[in-house]
Amino acid sequence: MNLTSPTLTRERVRHEFAVRPMTVTGWRDITPRMRRVTLAGPMEGFVSTGPGDHVKVFFPHPVTGELHAPRVAPDGGIERPQGVELISRDYTPLVNDRGELELDFFLHGDGGPAGDWAARVSEGDQIDVAGPRGSKLAPTGADWFVLGGDESALPALSRWLRILPETADVTVLAEVHDADDEAYLAHLAGQNRRITWLHRGDALPGTTALLEDAARAVARPGGVGFFWFGGEAGTLKPVRRYLRRELELDASTVECSGYWKRGEANHDHHAPVDPEDPEA
Ligand SMILES: Cc1cc2nc3c(=O)[nH]c(=O)nc-3n(C[C@H](O)[C@H](O)[C@H](O)COP(=O)(O)OP(=O)(O)OC[C@H]3O[C@@H](n4cnc5c(N)ncnc54)[C@H](O)[C@@H]3O)c2cc1C
Repeated sequence: MNLTSPTLTRERVRHEFAVRPMTVTGWRDITPRMRRVTLAGPMEGFVSTGPGDHVKVFFPHPVTGELHAPRVAPDGGIERPQGVELISRDYTPLVNDRGELELDFFLHGDGGPAGDWAARVSEGDQIDVAGPRGSKLAPTGADWFVLGGDESALPALSRWLRILPETADVTVLAEVHDADDEAYLAHLAGQNRRITWLHRGDALPGTTALLEDAARAVARPGGVGFFWFGGEAGTLKPVRRYLRRELELDASTVECSGYWKRGEANHDHHAPVDPEDPEA
């Protein structure tokens, strides 16, 4: 173990639990595979200050159309309805200039209530949005950042690029299908914000070593670096192993979050990316 590996601190902020009934007011395709859904609803008290924040989105049952979600109990806790099926998935909240909540859905086409809902969305559709329950802020004191992920993490990557100071030295490694997907982040690139696009082509999402190869190839200047990756859990395992085991970087400077898992519905992102090394 490299005991001299630098460390970083990240502040955590808790938010009051809230479940917001939201109505679709519009949608548009940012790229051929990323659909932005704009929502209206009670946004008072909505706070989201961490780049990797998520909300839990509750969807209507695909057959019955019934929508069920937890409620805030009188004591402020969570009250879950009994005897009904709750259908939820995690998404990255975006708030537009008008203060409206927007969610960007990757139209992955592999079934699933969230992807299917987004593919058929229309004005007036309703969902419930819980959270974010807390925010993990960007680290302070890092000299440079390497941020990476696949389409599921593009919204989070856009948040990182907006939240980090203009002067921050950032390299983004983004795995996508092809050049048509680049418009999603391209406008956030800059002199000290380099975006490396990794085209998967006809390979299925979650099956390539593109992110690992790019992480291995990325320049690591002096000073303290911070690495954040979000995406398919299996593809992030070797990324994390490289950073934590081979480079012996401190856990506080590396975050790899399994946003989904190939062949698994509703993957729990709290599950360790590397079950043999579950510390982070
Ligand atoms: C913190 C966090 C934030 C997230 N933010 C976003 C976001 O802003 N936008 C976004 O699009 N996703 C985001 N995701 C990922 C999203 O929650 C998952 O992709 C989710 O599984 C989609 O649900 P589903 O109902 O469409 O598919 P599921 O029912 O979960 O899965 C059905 C099938 O689809 C496959 N699948 C699921 N997701 C993908 C994918 N991304 N690519 C290819 N195949 C897939 C599964 O492996 C499974 O075989 C986030 C996840 C986390 C943990």
